[in-house]
Amino acid sequence: MTQIKNIGIFTSGGDAPGMNAAIRAVVRSATYYDLEVTGIRRGYEGMINGEFFAMDRKSVSNIIQRGGTILKTARSEQFKTPEGRKLAYDQLKTHNVDALVAIGGDGTFTGARIFGQEYDMPIVGLPGTIDNDLIGTDFTIGYDTAINTVIDAVDKIRDTAESHDRVFIVEVMGRDSGLIALRTGIASGAEAILIPETKTDINNLCDRLEHSRKDKLSKIVIVAEGEDAGGAFEIGRQVKERFPHYDTRISILGHIQRGGRPSCMDRVLASRVGVAAVEALRDGHRNEMIGIIHNEISYTPFEHAIKHHIEINPNFLKLVEILSI
Ligand code: ATP
Repeated sequence: MTQIKNIGIFTSGGDAPGMNAAIRAVVRSATYYDLEVTGIRRGYEGMINGEFFAMDRKSVSNIIQRGGTILKTARSEQFKTPEGRKLAYDQLKTHNVDALVAIGGDGTFTGARIFGQEYDMPIVGLPGTIDNDLIGTDFTIGYDTAINTVIDAVDKIRDTAESHDRVFIVEVMGRDSGLIALRTGIASGAEAILIPETKTDINNLCDRLEHSRKDKLSKIVIVAEGEDAGGAFEIGRQVKERFPHYDTRISILGHIQRGGRPSCMDRVLASRVGVAAVEALRDGHRNEMIGIIHNEISYTPFEHAIKHHIEINPNFLKLVEILSI
């Protein structure tokens, strides 16, 4: 095993609050262990284009509390081709980078897995996505902040409910995963939660709305963007059709869910896995995602982290049914 001297770090895919805290942790811990760090801007695209710069402990001052990512992020079609990955590898060699920390979601780790198979380049990943849809960690960096942003917004939406029979259909992020919807639905006292993992039954939704207490000031339905009934506007249209007397409102929360200062949970998670990533590379780990399971650092092969679909806990859906009476 050759000794690692220079760690390249990049963020990729969708940005998530807490990525900066992870970057800081990697840079500071690498410095602590006398390793050099090379920042790579704009993910795989920047790697291909040679957007490299030296980082030291000062370059990550005053970023732990900032949302987004100071390294910028991008999606790269080129990296999906063998030619693009060859260019990326050549750039890494030119800049004397001999190991990588990738911060991103399942797409990022799919790319990292392929790259790690093709080239002799140790890579470890940090779970940075608001979706929480990776195996090998209880929570991903950004998820806690995002769900807190959602409940803050839903609380405000609820405050505007002054008349009876007002229904709010609130769409939250989650094209392939209902984990944001599931937790925020419970935390905001929703009447129903619609997610991609279960079939959406509008009749069933309308029955629930009809049979819920008549004296409720507002009824909230949380919809993950990837559910299969056509999205919040279509659901709203059908609810209106069945209950013309309801004042039905649609709210798409959109990109505010990605922004904002990372929560304490996300900062601590990012700091722990960031340090563990550097230690893992020093110990010879490669092609693994570093996460936290049951409060312990865990190492999950990329292949496993991305392959398996997260099972939705059916008790969560039952909770909504019980608590919304
Ligand atoms: P999020 O979950 O927040 O969207 P992500 O990491 O899943 O983050 P993607 O856009 O899916 O985001 O992936 C990020 C990048 O990873 C892609 O733009 C591409 O460069 C690379 N990537 C994804 N799939 C592959 C693949 N099959 N081969 C090579 N690279 C890939």
